[in-house]
Amino acid sequence: MQTFAFGYPRIGKKREYKKLLEGFWKGEVSKKELFEGIESVERGRIERYAEYVDIYPKGEMTLYDRMLDTSVLLGIIPERFLPYQGLETYFEMARGKYALELTKWFNTNYHYLVPEIERGEFSIKFVEPIDFLFNLGKSGILSLIGPFTFLRLSKALRRIETPVPVLEVEKIEERDKFERIFEAVSRTYISLVEKLSSDGEREIIFEEPSLVTDTEKWHWDLVEGFYKKVSEHVNVTLLAYYDGVSDYDRYVNLPVKALLLDFVSNKENYENLKRCGFPSDKTLIAGVINGRQVWRANLKEKARFIEDISKVAENIIISNSCPLYHLPVTVSVEDELSADIRERLSFADEKLEEIRTLRGLLLGEEEFVKIAEESEKLMGTSFAVNEDVRRRVSSLKEEDFTREKPYSERVKIQKDILNLPPLPTTTIGSFPQTEEVRKMRTAYRSGKISQEEYDRFIKGEIEKLIKVQEDLGLDVFVHGEFERTDMVEFFAQKLDGIATTKHGWVISYGSRVYRPPIIYGDVSRPEPMTLKEITYAQSLTDKPVKGMLTGPVTILNWSFYRDDVPKEEIAYQIALALQEEVRDLEEAGIKIIQIDEPAFREGAPLKRNDWKDYFEWAVKAFRLASRAKPETQIHTHMCYSEFNEIIDYIYEMDFDVISIEASRSKGEIISAFESYNGWDRQIGIGVYDIHSPAIPEKEEIKMIIERVLKVFPSDLIWINPDCGLKTRRWEEVIPALRNMVEATKELRKEVVVN
Ligand code: GLN
Ligand code: ZN
Repeated sequence: MQTFAFGYPRIGKKREYKKLLEGFWKGEVSKKELFEGIESVERGRIERYAEYVDIYPKGEMTLYDRMLDTSVLLGIIPERFLPYQGLETYFEMARGKYALELTKWFNTNYHYLVPEIERGEFSIKFVEPIDFLFNLGKSGILSLIGPFTFLRLSKALRRIETPVPVLEVEKIEERDKFERIFEAVSRTYISLVEKLSSDGEREIIFEEPSLVTDTEKWHWDLVEGFYKKVSEHVNVTLLAYYDGVSDYDRYVNLPVKALLLDFVSNKENYENLKRCGFPSDKTLIAGVINGRQVWRANLKEKARFIEDISKVAENIIISNSCPLYHLPVTVSVEDELSADIRERLSFADEKLEEIRTLRGLLLGEEEFVKIAEESEKLMGTSFAVNEDVRRRVSSLKEEDFTREKPYSERVKIQKDILNLPPLPTTTIGSFPQTEEVRKMRTAYRSGKISQEEYDRFIKGEIEKLIKVQEDLGLDVFVHGEFERTDMVEFFAQKLDGIATTKHGWVISYGSRVYRPPIIYGDVSRPEPMTLKEITYAQSLTDKPVKGMLTGPVTILNWSFYRDDVPKEEIAYQIALALQEEVRDLEEAGIKIIQIDEPAFREGAPLKRNDWKDYFEWAVKAFRLASRAKPETQIHTHMCYSEFNEIIDYIYEMDFDVISIEASRSKGEIISAFESYNGWDRQIGIGVYDIHSPAIPEKEEIKMIIERVLKVFPSDLIWINPDCGLKTRRWEEVIPALRNMVEATKELRKEVVVN
C-alpha cells in the first residue's frame, strides 16, 4: 500500500515565504535572493513529503497564486498588463493598481486571483517567473490546475468598441460560450502536455476541484474529451476535493490512471463507491486524512475504513482529503497551548505523519500500531464538555430564536428612543490601527507594560476618537476597536472552548496570513468581553455608541472547529455566549448593538442543494445571538456584493439595520434589496470604498446616495463607509468622513423638504 500527499503549505515554518515576498516588494530583497529563498522553501516542502510519503507533487510552489501562474503559463494576460515584462508584470497582475480580482477559493478562506479571458486564442509562455517555478522541483509528479477548474473560476471579458472602448464581463456559464472557450483552453493545455511529455514527464497530476461543484452532463463530456487526449501522452492522476464529486459514475470512469476521492467532507463519495464500485484498472487515492481541520485522526478507525473500501477498490493509495495549505505548518512550536489540547491537534506536518502511520498500521508494523492505539484512545473520547452549555442548546425552543416584537413595532419604539436625523451617519466599527496601537499591544503582550497601562492607553484612544466623531458630526458613534487585533481572534481569546495559537499562520492570499482560532470544546463566556470599552466610550458622549460584536456564523466560519458535534450546535453555543454579551450591553445602557457577519455567506456549501440546511441554522444562530429587547436596535454588517441569491435568508435574520458594501459595485447590489418584495428594514449604504486610500469627493458620495434614494424611502437609509477603517490612515479617514457627513447634510435638506 502506497501513500500520497499534496498541497503542503508554502508559508514556511518561520513565515519565510511572506518575508521574502514582502521584502522583495519593498526593495529590500533582490530578485536573486527572492528566487534563492523560494527555492529553499520549496526544498523544505519536498523534503517533508519525501520523509513521510511515497508519492508527492512538484510544481505546487507559486510566487503569489497558482491560478495566476496558470493564467500566465497559458498566455492569458489581459491587455492592460501588456507587454508582459516578467516579474514586474506578474506582480502588477497580482497586486497592482489594476490587479486581477481576488475571490474565495471554493468554500475555503484562501483567495485566488480571477483570470480574465479576453481573446479566444492564446499560447504557452514559459516566461518569468513560470520558467523558474517549473524548474524548481526535480522529484515528484508535476501538478497542474486542470482546464475545467481553471475555466470555471475565470471570467471572460469582452471589448465593446463604443467611442471609448469598454470591457464588459461576459458570463461563461452558458453552454456554447463555455464550450468555445474550453476548446481554446484545452488546445493550449494539450500543447503544454505534448511539450512536457517530450521533455520526459510520464505522469501529470491535474487538480480539478470544480468537479465537486454543481455540474451538468455536457460539462462531463468536455472533461472526458480533454482527459482522453491528455492520456494519449501521459498518465493522468485527477484530484477533486472539498466535497463529493458531483457525478460519481462519470468521474471514476474518466480515462485516467488514478483518482482522488475526498472521504472526509461528507459521506457522498463513500456511499457512491459502495453502490457503484470502482474500476479495477484504476487506482483509488483515498483522501482519508482531513486537510481542512486540525484534529488528530482516529487512525484505527481510518484503518477500518480503508479495509472496508478495499473490498470494492483493488488499488488504493492513502492520502490527505484536500490540500494541506489550509492548515498551519506544525503543532510542535505551539508551546503555549495546554498539553491536553495540543495532543489532540494535527497540522500539516502531523498530517503527513498520520498518513505514514496509517500505512504502517495497515501493514501491522508494531511501532505504528502503538501510535494508532493511542490516537483511538485520545480521539474516541469526548473532550472539554460543558454540560450546562449542552443543556442550554438542547433545550432551545422556537421562541428563543424570535424577538419579542416584530420589526414593524420595534422600529417605532427605537425611533422614539434614538431620535436620529434623517439619513443617519455612522461608521462600521474600527478606526486606524496605527503603529502606536500595535506597538502598545505588543508591549502589553510581552509584559513590558502592565494591564493598567494598556487599559489607560486604550481609554485614551477611545477618548480621542469620541472627540473626532463629535467634531465630524457623525450621528451614531463607535469606540474604534483599538483593543482588537482581529475581529474573530479577539472573541476567541475571551471565550472558553476556543484556543488561539502563536504560530498557526495560514495564507489567506498572496503573502497575507491569518491565524484561525481553534474551537476545541463547548463554547461559553466566562465574563463580559466588550463591556469595559463600550461603556467607557458611551460615558463620554450623549450620542449613541454602538456595541460591537462579531457574529456566531463568522466566528465559526473563520475558525477551525471540532467534528464531534454538528456545526449547527457549535453555532448555537457561540450564539448563546454572544446573547449574554448583548444582555450585559443592554443593561449598561447601550442602545444600538452591531453584530458583524462578513462571513455569513461564505460558509455556504458548494452544492446548491445543501444551501437550505446551512442557511437555516446560520440564520437561527444570528437570531439567537441578537435576541435583544425591542428597544435595542440590532445592526449587522456584511461586506460583499452578491446578495441576490441569498436575500431571503438575509431578511430572515430579523435585524433592524444592515450595512453593506455598495460603493464598488456601484449600486448593483441595491437591486437585490430592491427586488425583495416588501423590504422594510433599514440599510446602511457603503458610500465609499475603504480599500482604497483615495479620498472620496463629496459629489461622488452624493451621487451614490441619490441613487439609493431613488430605490428606498429615505427613512430606511443610513450613510456609512463600506467597511471598517482599521487599515486606513488618519489622514485619509478624517477628510473622507468629513465629505461623507457634508454630502449627507446637503441631501438631508432635500429629503426633509420632500
Ligand atoms: N466591525 C468590523 C470593523 O470595522 C467589521 C470588519 C469586517 O466587516 N470585516 O473592522
Ligand atoms: Zn466589512
